[in-house]
Amino acid sequence: MAENLPDTNVGNIEYIRKADAVDAVNHALDRETILFSFVRKVAISALKKIAPADAAPVVHAYWIDTENYYRRWRCSACSGHTKEAHPPVCPFCGAKMDGEE
Ligand SMILES: [Zn+2]
Repeated sequence: MAENLPDTNVGNIEYIRKADAVDAVNHALDRETILFSFVRKVAISALKKIAPADAAPVVHAYWIDTENYYRRWRCSACSGHTKEAHPPVCPFCGAKMDGEE
């Protein structure tokens, strides 16, 4: 049974939405036979029992140049201001600043 344990190497962790996993199972087992129906039911039941990961959705935003020396850059997500030139992450709301200006 040990070979069925999940990979615990934290570098390989990827978060997925549970609804997407259920959709993938439904798609992969999209045949109305007794066997496919049974396997689909067992797989979806197992997926629904997995505890949610402690992860939040990534917010994407961008810096807006206000041309004000003291409040130069404004976050498009939270409107927080900073004098620093384009930090990669908003220090106020944590948004990833990879959006378009
Ligand atoms: Zn922000």
